[in-house]
Amino acid sequence: MRCRDFAISFGVAGSANHKIPQSQNPTIPSQLFGYFWAKKIINKAMSTFTLAVHGGAGTILKEDMTPELEKAYLDGLRTALDAGFAILAKGGSSIDAVKASVIMLEDNLLFNAGRGSVFTKKGIHEMDAAIMDGETLNAGAVAAVSNIRNPVALAAAIMQNSDHVFLSGDGASDFAIKQGMRLEPDEYFFSQFRYDQWKLIRDSDNFALDHSTDRVEALMKDKKFGTVGAVACDQKGNIAAATSTGGMTNKKYGRIGDSPIIGSGTYANNKTCAISATGHGEMFIRAVAAYDVSALMEYRKCSLQQAMDEVVNKKLVDIQGEGGMIGVDARGNFALIFNSAGMYRGVRSSDGTDEIAIYK
Ligand code: ASP
Repeated sequence: MRCRDFAISFGVAGSANHKIPQSQNPTIPSQLFGYFWAKKIINKAMSTFTLAVHGGAGTILKEDMTPELEKAYLDGLRTALDAGFAILAKGGSSIDAVKASVIMLEDNLLFNAGRGSVFTKKGIHEMDAAIMDGETLNAGAVAAVSNIRNPVALAAAIMQNSDHVFLSGDGASDFAIKQGMRLEPDEYFFSQFRYDQWKLIRDSDNFALDHSTDRVEALMKDKKFGTVGAVACDQKGNIAAATSTGGMTNKKYGRIGDSPIIGSGTYANNKTCAISATGHGEMFIRAVAAYDVSALMEYRKCSLQQAMDEVVNKKLVDIQGEGGMIGVDARGNFALIFNSAGMYRGVRSSDGTDEIAIYK
């Protein structure tokens, strides 16, 4: 794929018919001020602000859904958009917006993150999360923590209040306690439908994305991936990404997925894009999926849409990496792309875009 032509002609980077208004078209002010200065003004003072969220991707089919459940998912996505977008509308930062949105999704039992996290092989909950600031490239991540109400808040505390990027297990819990993070008992994380999912495969060596047995196929038909994430571009043109997950049902040996790995499931860089992914984590790690979108934009001058399409619909498909991702760039363009049957997703922008969807 060649993307450079796009950059030379200054085409529109976003998806879903997102257009840059004529007043923000860099070719006009460039005649007066020179392109680079104009571009700086556009990015820093006139950014369209945008927030996108996801609640996981997978074999999500309308025929498997009741109207009540569908409504509950859509309400959950809307609540997450409301929380983050209110921050952006008030001139708040993209990092605060993505954190607020992800916290809403972590607190919602329907999604596989925070409260609704899946069961591990040992019948417990081990959660992963990450957050990244595209302005500074600061990042925080946490893996395999239990009893933390909001792992994304812990990831943000690691980013802001420690010298480290990535903490795990008991050490991360010690840090959480020191930081005064909210803890919850095991019962808080119990949900009957996640327990029933786990019961289907807990005596096998399978984890929930392996299609090799009938039982796992039944499980997959039932409940897909449910990782949550958010990406945002704020009024200053700074972008951020956050992702949180309970991982995969029946995971063992301290398995960690792509979500907390900077560059795989989560990445943000003002020069290119902010990405939050969901899907079969092992493949997203091998593909270094989120950073690959950024690299295609930086080095091959692809648009956000082109780069995400290449990674999700080609590179991941080539290695059977089922799932999807949401992305924004520093102009507020966005894309929501998946190669599975569905992805719980929503996007809202200051240009009037306001969409929530589940299926293809
Ligand atoms: N990517 C997550 C993981 O592999 C799963 C998901 O997206 O639901 O842990």
